[in-house]
Amino acid sequence: MSRFWSRVVHDLVPYVPGEQPKIANLIKLNTNENPYGPSPQVLAAIRAATDETLKLYPDPNASALKQTIAAYHGLQMEQVFVGNGSDEVLAFVFQGLLKHDAPLLFPDITYSFYPVYCGLYGVSYRTVPLRDDFTIAVDDYAQPAGAIIFPNPNAPTGHLLPLAQIEALLQQHPDAVVVIDEAYVDFGGIDEIPSAIALVNRYPNLLVVQTLSKARSLAGLRVGFAIGHKDLIEGLERVKNSFNSYPLDRLAIAGAVAAFEDRAYFETTRNKVIASREQLVKDMQALGFEIIPSAANFIFARHPQHDAATLATKLRQRSILVRHFKLPRIEQYLRITVGTDGQCGALVDALKEFFV
Ligand SMILES: *Cc1c(COP(=O)(O)O)cnc(C)c1O
Repeated sequence: MSRFWSRVVHDLVPYVPGEQPKIANLIKLNTNENPYGPSPQVLAAIRAATDETLKLYPDPNASALKQTIAAYHGLQMEQVFVGNGSDEVLAFVFQGLLKHDAPLLFPDITYSFYPVYCGLYGVSYRTVPLRDDFTIAVDDYAQPAGAIIFPNPNAPTGHLLPLAQIEALLQQHPDAVVVIDEAYVDFGGIDEIPSAIALVNRYPNLLVVQTLSKARSLAGLRVGFAIGHKDLIEGLERVKNSFNSYPLDRLAIAGAVAAFEDRAYFETTRNKVIASREQLVKDMQALGFEIIPSAANFIFARHPQHDAATLATKLRQRSILVRHFKLPRIEQYLRITVGTDGQCGALVDALKEFFV
């Protein structure tokens, strides 16, 4: 606390990310990173960009990356916004698109950064409780809304709302921006990814936010993007260009472009994570855990006989990190990132030992 702080700083309640401890041989299943490294083509592109040209500012518009993402999704470049991680993209979204007279709506159990951005930008909000089975019910959003945001699949539950329901929500609120935060959507289906990007050309009030941190194994590079009607994107550009001309550096732009170009690597790793998730769910159910059906690279699990906080502490003593949120309704749940089969096996073996 300092007398030099502005009033808004006194009142902030900052987001607390999952720990990144420096422990050897850690099995890190607490922050939903990808257990596989980035595509070798990404690393090669970053190396190739590491040269003399770093003396120059990057392209403030990151056009090469916007072009790549637009082409990947069959859209126009004017429908794409890019930022320094989707957390930064979301910050611009909250400031530029979600602050209205009526409150912003989001679920009571969701990404805990949302209320933090509301505090930073003075956005009034109302939470809408998930149903008892932890699903989002679109009917519950039939109330005055300045805007709506939630992740799909939701975090930390992993539950996926079908696209038809999102479409119903968009029709229910034609005059409100609906933001779908798709950090985990690439783990949502093998044959088809259930992304709301398929709807952006039909709904000018839809904004889809994605990240390269999860399915593309680039949490350390900090690249996220938003896709929507060009007027929404222009609003975000106005905020960005009033804040930082160059949120993406040269290496990030080069690496992100290469990540989209290596589609085969993306497909292989996401399919491996999906397969490991299905196995982990089976193994944990066999131990008596109840698990919310997950379309993400994590599972949300509780055990009827074992306290979640105690389990998290005991796992930590074995150098296995999982995430426990000491929050109403979910304090008996653990959020466990899907690791390699070896890491998931070590987790299951440790739990088996506790339970004998
Ligand atoms: C991980 C995550 C993000 C942030 O991703 P970055 O691009 O790494 O900033 C955004 N939303 C949700 C729901 C997430 O889980």
